[in-house]
Amino acid sequence: MKIENEIVELYKEIYPVYAFMQGISECRGKIFIPSKTNRKKVIRKINLLLKQARDKKHLIILKSLKYKLELYKPYQFVNGLGSYLFNYEMKKTSVSEILPDLKEGVRILIKEDTKMPIGIRILCAMGIDNAIVGLKKMSKDGELIYLLKRYRAKLNINFELNRENILHNFKKNSLGRKKEYKKYLNGVMGVPEAPRKIEKLCLKWLRLTLSEFNLVADKIKKKYNLSDVGEIDKFLLEKSGKNLLKTADEWRKKLRLPIEKNLLEISKRHKVKYIITPDYLESKLPIAAASAMNYLSGDFENILFLTKKAKINDYFLVDILVHEEFGHNVNFSNSLDSNILDRLIFLPTMYPTAEIIATYLEYRFFELSKKLNLGRKFDLFYSYVVFKRFLIVYLRAIADIRINTGKNSFAEFLEWANNETGINKDSLFHDIFGKFFIPGYATAYPLGMHALENLRKKSNINEKEFNTKVWSLGLPPFSVFLDSAKKIGKEFKK
Ligand SMILES: [Zn+2]
Repeated sequence: MKIENEIVELYKEIYPVYAFMQGISECRGKIFIPSKTNRKKVIRKINLLLKQARDKKHLIILKSLKYKLELYKPYQFVNGLGSYLFNYEMKKTSVSEILPDLKEGVRILIKEDTKMPIGIRILCAMGIDNAIVGLKKMSKDGELIYLLKRYRAKLNINFELNRENILHNFKKNSLGRKKEYKKYLNGVMGVPEAPRKIEKLCLKWLRLTLSEFNLVADKIKKKYNLSDVGEIDKFLLEKSGKNLLKTADEWRKKLRLPIEKNLLEISKRHKVKYIITPDYLESKLPIAAASAMNYLSGDFENILFLTKKAKINDYFLVDILVHEEFGHNVNFSNSLDSNILDRLIFLPTMYPTAEIIATYLEYRFFELSKKLNLGRKFDLFYSYVVFKRFLIVYLRAIADIRINTGKNSFAEFLEWANNETGINKDSLFHDIFGKFFIPGYATAYPLGMHALENLRKKSNINEKEFNTKVWSLGLPPFSVFLDSAKKIGKEFKK
């Protein structure tokens, strides 16, 4: 069998729920139980394929899958339960089809060692709590809940999972990833840079953005008689609308025209369903997220999640829609004809590439927005929101490196970041915490955004043409994607 097909087979074996969600019907009712034996068996298969593979893309994907299995931690299984439930709900298929395997998976976890660093046990406990909320709604079967509770008791997390308790317990190295971080970053995520270099770059970008952010914040403070960034955020929070889906629908229509005119063509097959994030996915998707359904079969449709709890105001909403729909979802829609390996949604190497595109578009749309006459008040608050958003993007990457490698404890990092930017610790906590579930992921946003922006500037073709082609590349690994974007820019001689 061709290596490409072998990789698709691996995807179906390791991620059967995602494969089913994306239209591979033979994966219906299947779960990958990540027991030691099963992991070893798959790693052996990957090793054989690695010996035959020559293509850069194949090598990166195979290594990523191998390292992911080698570095496996139980929180990945329990944290996946919420999205398994959701995927089955979206496919209008009863979760009872996967319950026996899920129970078996948890039974194996209970038997295995629970001596894990406290940070990992906290992530695990959170995954369990969320899964239980979802399960109670979707199934009358109490046995899985009982097993999950038994496993949770073994984790020895006997405190409420709120900000204070988490910070108190997240000491240096409490994620236990000090030695493993580079393998996560370079291997699993396929981001080929050294942590130190990324940290240095992000610090530089942070300080550049900070001076622009402070200018805008000062203007707002003066005009609205507010004393600091915390007060501006509170002021903006009060502006969040009631009917999120309706407001989002109005904005997406308004945004589409200037984006299509100036930044990028949108495929005729582009279709999105906006939904409010179900409560059992809220901690995983605290603000918004993009996904897709049946990406590998005929009846493809995008999904865009908006989380009610996030209290999203108009300015923030615009930035979110640019990122999620016109970044991620349009990338999916425009890539329907790309190679199958570039459409295997939720393969670990596709996350970084997805974020390159979406974050870069936030930046490009922000530049465009200044010419769109959206009103002075809008421009002022929108630039505040966007600059703050980029500060968070840089801070998240720095946090990813410092906290995962044990350079800072979580509390130390928040103290530093608050001193540096004035953004309050509570909001920083919520923005950063979720990224601990996927180590290395947060670095892709700033690195990729700047890399793509540089390629666009050097490109021989105009921006709309460049972006349209880039959006149709699908989601190959980080460096393969940037290689292709570079080629696109060089396509036509000046
Ligand atoms: Zn994103």
